[in-house]
Amino acid sequence: MNKPFYINLQEHFITVSIGVALYPEHGRQIDSLNIHAEQALAEAKQLGGNTIRLYSHKASPLLNSSINLDRDLRQAIKNKELIVYYQPKISLTSKKVYGFEALIRWNHPVRGLIAPDTFLPFAEESSLISEIGYFVLLETCKQIKSWINHGFPDISVSVNIVAQQIHRGRLLTDLKEALELYNIDGHHLELEITESSLIDHSKNVEKLLEQIKKENISISLDDFGTGYSSLAYLTRYPFDTLKIDRAFVNKIGDHKDEAIITAMIAMGKAMGMNIVAEGVETIEQVNFLKHQGCDILQGFYFSKPLNALESTEFLKQHKLIAV
Ligand code: C2E
Ligand code: CA
Ligand code: CA
Repeated sequence: MNKPFYINLQEHFITVSIGVALYPEHGRQIDSLNIHAEQALAEAKQLGGNTIRLYSHKASPLLNSSINLDRDLRQAIKNKELIVYYQPKISLTSKKVYGFEALIRWNHPVRGLIAPDTFLPFAEESSLISEIGYFVLLETCKQIKSWINHGFPDISVSVNIVAQQIHRGRLLTDLKEALELYNIDGHHLELEITESSLIDHSKNVEKLLEQIKKENISISLDDFGTGYSSLAYLTRYPFDTLKIDRAFVNKIGDHKDEAIITAMIAMGKAMGMNIVAEGVETIEQVNFLKHQGCDILQGFYFSKPLNALESTEFLKQHKLIAV
């Protein structure tokens, strides 16, 4: 490739960039192997191209252990080791349980309950994350149906959605399928989407979110204020809910952070959105958020995430909450 090409007697130079991933160290499935090679290629191009880059592991805490994440996660889905926990959300207006956020856990046969932060980033490197996302959706709809049958007809449950699910083109079908399978209406379901998932702005994403809303499903902007935070997103996309990240809530008491929360709530309200605060741990935080007009609170002050049985018990024992 060092020699020039001649087109119409003109000299042209072409350079080559190469990204390398090794089997099996960098992936046992073609999916993850390919993604890792592409990451190495992107790095080569960033360095100006005309070079070769070998994929380098970003160390995940689990990768160093005996667990073979890719294989074991696939097994975990088959063996039903993934379980969905539900963290209650409390409505300050009705003083009732508004609903839950669905949060995944991996009940590993040897290592016990594994938190999502440990394995989801890995799953995001392949199509595994979409499979896990679909599983969470089905489990959640099944659970909503069970709560309706237990005499809780107004429950709303949110599920976390990542960029890959949005761009893969199956989300709307998956949502419709899950709702139909358990015969529930879309208003029981809310999607939590982070700003970073929307960075690749395209008309298609806007259209997709509009279609999702036509199914009566709400959309929540998750981790608000922590990421890229373009305020333009607030008008561009049809959000129903603004979710204030725990990083702000746990700094209540600090003057400047309180000012940010106050401003976020005022702005969200002025745009007609519901405001949810996550990571609420103390009575001081409850009082501050209540005073500012926040609608819904979620956090250890009320409850940690619970398994399905415990969540139903929580609903039965908290028909009215003192807030
Ligand atoms: P997130 O969406 O920000 O979820 C809230 C996290 O904060 C949860 O951690 C929850 O257990 C924790 N949390 C709730 N209240 C409190 C509190 O009062 N204090 C403190 N210190 N923490 C609190 P978790 O369950 O470990 O989930 C971590 C992240 O993993 C989530 O962050 C979410 O981004 C992701 N995740 C969890 N389940 C799923 C899922 O099914 N799909 C996708 N795509 N992501 C998920
Ligand atoms: Ca969330
Ligand atoms: Ca968060």
